[in-house]
Order: sequence, then C-alpha cells, then structure tokens
Amino acid sequence: MNLNLLNTIYQNIVSHAPLIDQDGCFPEQEFTWLADASLLQITLPGQLLDFTRGNTPTLLQLLKNVGRASLPVGRIYEGHINALYLIHLYATSEQQKRWYTDVSQHHQLFGVWNTQAQDGIRIHDLGSGRYRLEGCKTFCSGGSHVTRPLITGELVSPDKKGWQMCIIPTEKVKIIVEDRSFWKPLGMKASASFKMDFTGIEISEEDLLGPPNAYYQQPYFSGGAIRFAAVQLGGAEAVMEEMHHFITMMNRTQDPFQQARMAEITYLTESGNLWINQAGAKTDEWLQSDDRTDQILAYANMTRTMIEEICLRTLQLAERSVGSRGLMRPDRLERVHRDLTTYLRQPAPDATLTAIGAYVFNQPATHDIWN
Ligand SMILES: Cc1cc2nc3c(=O)[nH]c(=O)nc-3n(C[C@H](O)[C@H](O)[C@H](O)COP(=O)(O)OP(=O)(O)OC[C@H]3O[C@@H](n4cnc5c(N)ncnc54)[C@H](O)[C@@H]3O)c2cc1C
Repeated sequence: MNLNLLNTIYQNIVSHAPLIDQDGCFPEQEFTWLADASLLQITLPGQLLDFTRGNTPTLLQLLKNVGRASLPVGRIYEGHINALYLIHLYATSEQQKRWYTDVSQHHQLFGVWNTQAQDGIRIHDLGSGRYRLEGCKTFCSGGSHVTRPLITGELVSPDKKGWQMCIIPTEKVKIIVEDRSFWKPLGMKASASFKMDFTGIEISEEDLLGPPNAYYQQPYFSGGAIRFAAVQLGGAEAVMEEMHHFITMMNRTQDPFQQARMAEITYLTESGNLWINQAGAKTDEWLQSDDRTDQILAYANMTRTMIEEICLRTLQLAERSVGSRGLMRPDRLERVHRDLTTYLRQPAPDATLTAIGAYVFNQPATHDIWN
C-alpha cells in the first residue's frame, strides 16, 4: 500500500466530511477515491489483503483508518468487504469470477443487508431457476449507491428451506424502491442507511449465494464483529485527535486534569489497537484448525464489547475536556461524537456479553483459555 496516497485519501475524506453530513447524502466522491486507490478490490485473490492469505490484522487497521477519517465511509466500506468475504467463503468459482470482475473492472460497490422489520424478505421459488422477492430490508447502508447488494431472506420453495443469501445485479432488475424517510438518525447521516423494498424483483439461480442458512454459519457470522469494532475504534481515535487539537488551541495542555484525561484516552485507544491486532491474529491462526469456532466467537465478542466500552469512555472524557464550546457545529468533534454514538449501536450487545461469560463457565479451568 502506498502510505502517502492513503494518507492523502484519509485527509481528503476528513476535509469533505462536513459537506456530506446531511440526511440522504452518500459519500460519492469518497468512494471514487477509494476505488481509484484500488481499495475496493484489495481483498481479491492476488491482491495485497487477499483473504486466502489471512492478513486480518492489516485489514482491521485499514478499516480503522477509514473509520477515523469518516465513520459513515467506514461503515459502507466495511459492508463492501463483508460481502466480498462471504463471496470468498460461499460462492462457486464461476460466481467468484463474475463478482470479482464486477469489483476490479467496474468498481461495483457491494454491501450486506440482513436487518429487517416485520415486512422482511421472502424469496419465492418460481421454478426453472427463477425467484421473486417480496418485502423490505432496513438500515441498508449505501442505499441505491450499492450496485451489488447482498441481501438475505426466507426461501419459500418446495425443495429447499432456510435463510438464503442472494446478490442483486441492480442494473438487470426493476428499480429497488428506496425509502429515505426511514433514515432520520442522530449521526451517521452519510451512511445513507435507508429502507429498501425488493417486492417484485426477479432474480436467477446464479444470483443465490451459498446454500440456505450459510449466512449464519459460525465462526464467520459473529466473528465478523471485529471488523465493525475496528471501524468504531477509528472513531475513538478521531475523537482523541480533535481533543488534542482543541486543548492545545485553548492553551490548556498544562492543566493536570486535562493531562489525566488525555492519558486515559491515549491508553484506552492504544488498548483498542492491541485488541483488534490480537483478535485479527488469533482469528487467522484459529481459522486454520477445525475445533476453534467457540474460541473465535468468544474472542470476537470480547473484542467487540471492549471496543464499545473504550469508545463510550473516550466520548465521555472528551466531552468533559472540551466542554460545550468544543461540541459546536461545524467542528469535527461534534459530528464524530454523533456518528460514533450512533454507530456503536450494533446487534445484540447484551447477548454478546453473556455469551462470553457462558463460554468461560463452559471451560474446565480459566488458565490458558486463549491459547
Ligand atoms: C449506522 C448504521 C448502519 C447500519 N447498516 C446496516 C447494514 O448495512 N446492514 C444491516 O444488515 N444492518 C445495518 N445496521 C443495523 C445494525 O446491524 C443493527 O441491526 C441495528 O443497529 C440494531 O438496532 P438496535 O440497536 O435498535 O437493536 P436492538 O436489537 O433493538 O437492541 C437494542 C437493545 O435491546 C437489547 N435487546 C435485543 N433483543 C432483545 C430482546 N429480545 N429482549 C430484550 N432486550 C433485547 C439489545 O441487547 C440492546 O441493548 C446498521 C445500523 C447502524 C446504526
């Protein structure tokens, strides 16, 4: 990776972020920069972070750096990487060839949309390899800018049952109706996480990814939480950067309370780095053996929970340090505070915590449980 180019991109994303902090906005320019720097295809076979070679710690650092520049961009980019990982795991070689070409030649943006409300997705088998979709997804980051959405739904078929993944070739099907009124969040406005209605969309067998229920296969499903945790940590680092800038500008750096809060934020964010680096390394190592699924999940659950704590504490320390004057629009800290507060809300945090305790109680002893 060309570090100078990457740093320029991150800086450009930071500078552009206030302009896209509006309901309905999508970071179009930012994704052109990422595509031009080959970051959309970086995990493809033969590329720098090729999934077949592990590389998870480096991938997590990349996600963190994008998240530090902009959490909405980080969110959408993480969805793209997640979709490519699911393709790496479950697609046939013919599908991989097609979808990898979509990224490398045509800069198509992927995303993973699983969340839904009562009017969720049903995939009706019409026979002869044709399927008709019915229902909606919520929190669809990227909205219609995602030209290859990976969605999930209940397969309704005489032959197969379960939670089916499919990837929609958007230019070949009728328009997916975007409901922007769904998305009126506190922060993460530019993640464009709209509600999308797929009713009436028809797809083919070749658009189905993996067998039914592959999406929830562990450790890949819950283990993926380390990727969004990395993006979130980027947000905490952005908060630290802004606090440093503000306190220096106010000429308050000699104050012992400000120094103590800076110290705490510094060791918290650095602990976050140790967590994601270690989680990445352990995931790569443990995926090599068959019997480590529970361990991978427990470690990912710990990482995700710790990063949430680190981010929440960092926000609180920064608020106290900068005071109300430092939390004014259009300053970066005000925006990152809203974005991080919103993005920290991820699925099932309570169940994640108790699963860690349950895992440890299941072990005969507590020493060496992470070796
Ligand atoms: C900016 C942003 C972008 C997103 N993008 C996407 C995307 O692209 N694709 C996608 O699929 N999803 C996306 N999501 C959705 C995300 O993955 C989560 O599903 C969603 O944020 C969880 O919503 P919630 O906090 O309201 O969840 P809830 O599940 O309602 O959790 C809220 C609280 O209730 C607790 N709780 C949960 N279940 C129960 C229960 N049965 N009984 C009692 N308590 C319970 C939880 O532990 C938590 O404390 C996005 C979310 C955000 C914020």
